[in-house]
Amino acid sequence: MSTHGVVDHDPDCLFCKIVAKKIPSRPVYEDDEFYCFHDIAPWAPVHFLIIPKAHIPSMAHITDAHAGLMGRMMALVPKLAAQEGCNPYPDGGFRLVTNTGVEGGQEVRHLHFHVMGGSRPWLRG
Ligand code: 5GP
Ligand code: ZN
Repeated sequence: MSTHGVVDHDPDCLFCKIVAKKIPSRPVYEDDEFYCFHDIAPWAPVHFLIIPKAHIPSMAHITDAHAGLMGRMMALVPKLAAQEGCNPYPDGGFRLVTNTGVEGGQEVRHLHFHVMGGSRPWLRG
């Protein structure tokens, strides 16, 4: 168990397998807490995912105990958007999306931020 009261690792979780490098991915950034990698089916010229290494299933599981972690996750967004080639704000920018639950359109049940950007048109969104 982690200090957040959720399992650190779910052996059946796709993104836990990606964190463990059991499934290959194209890395964008990695540190002790987070792994960031290109989405396999990008909607936009830039489309990568930011995930905590710990298995947190969704935003619905976030509590005050996660405030520090979530702050550090948010702070990665503009830094990695610029690194990956999103055009500068305000004429450029990016979209930050977190689908949550079935009605929220979440397919992979391991918390992830989608960061999408680049010159339009995009495939979707
Ligand atoms: P969700 O619909 O849960 O918000 O987003 C899941 C995302 O994970 C989708 O955009 C999908 O393309 C991406 N994805 C699913 N399987 C894989 C995979 O094996 N590797 C990578 N890099 N992305 C994946
Ligand atoms: Zn997981």
